[in-house]
Amino acid sequence: EKGEKYQFQTEVARLMNIVINSLYKTPEIFLRELISNGSDALDKIRFKSLTDPTALESNPNLNVTIALHKDQRVITITDTGIGMTKEDLQKNLGTIAKSGTSEFLDTLSGDKADMDLIGKFGVGFYSVFLVADKVRVTSKNNNDDQYIWESTAVDDFTIAKDPAGNTLGRGTQIAIHLKEDQDQYLEDARIKELVTKYSEFINFPIYLRQTKTKEVEPEPVAKETKDDDDEEAVVEEAKDDDTKEKAEPVIVAYEEDDLMNSNKPIWIRDPKTVTEVEYQEFYPVLTREPGAKAMAHSHFKAEGDVDFKAIMYIPSVAPKDLLQRVDSVHRNVKLYVKRVFITDDFPDILPRWLSFLKVVVDAEDAPLNVSRETVQSNKGIKAISKHIIKKLFDLLKTLSQDEERYAGFIKEFGTSLKLGALEDKSNVKKISRLLRYRSSDSDKYTSLESYVSRMKKGQKDIFYFTGANVDEIKQSPFVESLLARGYEVLYMDDPVDEIVLTHLGAFEGKSFQNVGKSDLNLGDENEAEANKELETKFLPLLDWMQATLLNDVEKVRVSKRLTTSPAALVANDFGWTANMERLMEGQAK
Ligand code: ADP
Ligand code: MG
Repeated sequence: EKGEKYQFQTEVARLMNIVINSLYKTPEIFLRELISNGSDALDKIRFKSLTDPTALESNPNLNVTIALHKDQRVITITDTGIGMTKEDLQKNLGTIAKSGTSEFLDTLSGDKADMDLIGKFGVGFYSVFLVADKVRVTSKNNNDDQYIWESTAVDDFTIAKDPAGNTLGRGTQIAIHLKEDQDQYLEDARIKELVTKYSEFINFPIYLRQTKTKEVEPEPVAKETKDDDDEEAVVEEAKDDDTKEKAEPVIVAYEEDDLMNSNKPIWIRDPKTVTEVEYQEFYPVLTREPGAKAMAHSHFKAEGDVDFKAIMYIPSVAPKDLLQRVDSVHRNVKLYVKRVFITDDFPDILPRWLSFLKVVVDAEDAPLNVSRETVQSNKGIKAISKHIIKKLFDLLKTLSQDEERYAGFIKEFGTSLKLGALEDKSNVKKISRLLRYRSSDSDKYTSLESYVSRMKKGQKDIFYFTGANVDEIKQSPFVESLLARGYEVLYMDDPVDEIVLTHLGAFEGKSFQNVGKSDLNLGDENEAEANKELETKFLPLLDWMQATLLNDVEKVRVSKRLTTSPAALVANDFGWTANMERLMEGQAK
């Protein structure tokens, strides 16, 4: 009846306080923690069985089963893992065994940032007291009888031998008596939601045990005869259809286990064994967008500061609000630690221009571990971020070797690249090699690199012109005159293009020249001479025009750049081009 009483180690009481104070807003994580413990215990027995095949005899099934007992307001979480002996119960659920945890607790200042971090990483068994006012852990290890640990989290706990005997065979059952205000965890839908959110990729099956009812037609029974002696009557009744009583259907209850985690964590596998179909099928699972498709993916692992495996996807289409999302949290990197979801809420884990990527990262250890220094500098997170970016550039480089596929990428995410060129200082060079533009050379996209390779002898600059669309740009007299002279012109039809080029300044030492600006230098000495002559000859005309247009233009000049058009309006070197004017006007509205 009454078990032996034990005191919690003082550190445990402290940890419990911290857990309660930091996580009262997300009590739901208790389920993640308990399922993880069940999964760990299953891993342990499976590992043991490799060297000791009899280890599984006490129960050959390996799974976690959750049952909701609405009447008693109790949830039970049962695993068929390694189980705990009496001594284990006392030690594991009464002290903090992990070295370093106490030191970790000492470093906590109690400010909000610290508390948030604890919430994200390994709070463990004691989180159960976020939702429970009483917890009973029944456990059976192969080396001991079945014992019951029980606590209301106040100072002490009890341990007693289970009077019911060794009913579990092997494993651990945690019975949680819910607090008054925690009824949501008695709802099937809520439990399924949480398992999908946090424990979807646990290696062992997680079932929701449901008590269902069904109507059963009972076997027809012959009507009782009033008089057994009256044989005649029996025979007569047997002929009649009504002889068999139409029995009422009976309602019987039965249990059924619903599997809640059928998705497999393909990222933990060797990339060589994962098929393209599997990558494509996993994508909508990861993004929770049914039917969504990926344009490209990269599956890799990293070792070093943080050991992790990851799959990165580029979606097949850009989200409509791609660049409107100005906040820094995009929830596009899902961090798991050993298959357990930790968070996708990392501000700035990737630069803003990469908000279109979808990444799953699974670390072998919590990347933030128990020292205040690493917690604050987020070294682990930085290492992960750096590695993802490196792999993205590898992926884009491969993609760009397939002209047609890469054109598809540029169409969807070209604007993201341009944003990167503007914002991502450390990667500007790499990004500028990935940019693609339409040009007068052909109908295809060209890179800056191949533009440079086609430059005319003596050409010093990269020529471009801006406009609302390619057709408009082609019709410009400026472009026309350059083409007539055999120069190639890049067509910039995206309002942001000019800002990007101005920002880049040059590519491989060649500056960008807007052919709509006044002092275009074609690098041709003879032409400069000829132009001087013309300027002298037409001076009176120029003076007259200058006087007439005094209020409208800054200067009237003889142009060497027009072929068939008689005149053109140009911006001076420091002024805005027509395109920029349009852009700025648009923003002012
Ligand atoms: P952690 O899982 O990080 O070790 P927890 O607080 O979650 O910390 O659990 C403490 C310890 O209790 C575990 O290390 C394990 O030894 C034991 N334990 C908890 N739950 C179970 C379980 N379901 N089966 C077996 N052992 C368990
Ligand atoms: Mg744990």
